[in-house]
Amino acid sequence: MQLYKEQELKIYNSLTSQKEVFKPINEGYVGMYVCGPTVYSNVHLGNVRTFMSFDMIFRYLKHLGFKVRYVRNITDAGHLTDDADDGEDKIAKKARLEQIEPMEVVQLYTVDFHNILNKFNFLPPSIEPTATGHIIEQIEIIKEILDKGFAYQINGSVYFDVHKFNENHNYGKLSGRNLEDLVHNSRALDGQSDKKNPQDFALWKKAEPQHIMRWPSPWSDGFPGWHLECTAMSTKYLGEQFDIHGGGMDLKFPHHECEIAQAEACNNQSPVNVWMHANMLKMNGQKMSKSTGNSINPDELLSGNNDILSKAYSPSVIRFFMMQSSYRSILDLTDDGLLAAEKAFKKLIEAMNSLPKLEVSNNTSNFDLTTWKQSCYDAMNDDFNTPILIAELFSAVKFINQIKDGKATISKEDFNTLKTTLDVFVLDILGLQNVSENNANGSNKLSETVELLIKMRAEARINKDFALSDKIRDELAEIGIQLKDGKDGTTFSTN
Ligand SMILES: [Zn+2]
Repeated sequence: MQLYKEQELKIYNSLTSQKEVFKPINEGYVGMYVCGPTVYSNVHLGNVRTFMSFDMIFRYLKHLGFKVRYVRNITDAGHLTDDADDGEDKIAKKARLEQIEPMEVVQLYTVDFHNILNKFNFLPPSIEPTATGHIIEQIEIIKEILDKGFAYQINGSVYFDVHKFNENHNYGKLSGRNLEDLVHNSRALDGQSDKKNPQDFALWKKAEPQHIMRWPSPWSDGFPGWHLECTAMSTKYLGEQFDIHGGGMDLKFPHHECEIAQAEACNNQSPVNVWMHANMLKMNGQKMSKSTGNSINPDELLSGNNDILSKAYSPSVIRFFMMQSSYRSILDLTDDGLLAAEKAFKKLIEAMNSLPKLEVSNNTSNFDLTTWKQSCYDAMNDDFNTPILIAELFSAVKFINQIKDGKATISKEDFNTLKTTLDVFVLDILGLQNVSENNANGSNKLSETVELLIKMRAEARINKDFALSDKIRDELAEIGIQLKDGKDGTTFSTN
């Protein structure tokens, strides 16, 4: 269904600093590129949040009926330890420290990255290209930038000439910086560098003799600069101009600014219509940092194996917690926040799971389902406002509970709208998982077993065997399963 024809999606564009109505270049198709991880260590929780934001965006665009080509790269070469084009390649450094091949480092952490994302129920991107798989394309772009006069070669390395580019283009337009300020604030070159100006950035670096990750090129045996791979891969798979480019806020400068400069130098046109930046994740009000100990990795969060939080949290609870905040806001991870998210998520899923037993009335409904459904879309159409969407979902939860208490009614037609809309927004768009429904080996069997015990307890009560009926209730409570007697029989909830 081409829902995008009915729904007006607005997206905040970092390039213009405003929300704009989203119009793809080719009707019905969306090209989206998101900067992926540098695979030299386990994926950070902050990165998980960034990729989760784009996973939700990908899911909503697909739901609207767009054919989305979502490209998210793997950086497996060229990302140096120092942003000023000095230092070691991050992958090569790790390989040296661990005494393994660079490609072993890449494999190890790419697998880790995918495992973690799978745990959080991510959809795979359409294409996941690697930097090392696109060295030829990167060399071709460097040749083009050299031909256009926006780069210079020196001692086997090639640098982008930011000052030359800025004569006719606007370097800094995305991050709001201007070149004069950058010049004013940068340190003088130390004499070791071949660059003409500190603002210039490497397109190709000549490899030192000990540098193991190296490829032949017209200029030297060396390796591409980090910013170049994204221009090469986004152009190759999405064209010279495409719809959406995303990434973490920290990539806006210099990485994305350099991507714009490279692409404009080649094609003399802006490569991306909408730039999107996902905000950072803090913990207990402070920046996450390994050195201060204020840091937790995704596995420690899922297993509860950490000194910071009181317990383990399930992937869907963490996902729900992250979706309670707009992707553009800073999110503070706290134990209280996670506990509250767990409670709310449980309430939402319990309401959804109670739907099959909900009594459908011949009367009309006491709740305007059509307006409610559109409010869910309105929330998402407003720059993917997931916290507002979740608030809307809870008005439905309230309504469901009112029906259960006999204080409201729902018609058959409205019931279908309610069920489909909840499924679409909770499961398909927010990407949350209804564990008790999906985990057939675990929770389904659990609920069947508890239902059996509830039946046996009811029989015991009929036989006036109250000792047995209390024993069943109390022993279930001891293992965290609460029985609740209501007018329509007994229901249960788990801790
Ligand atoms: Zn990138």
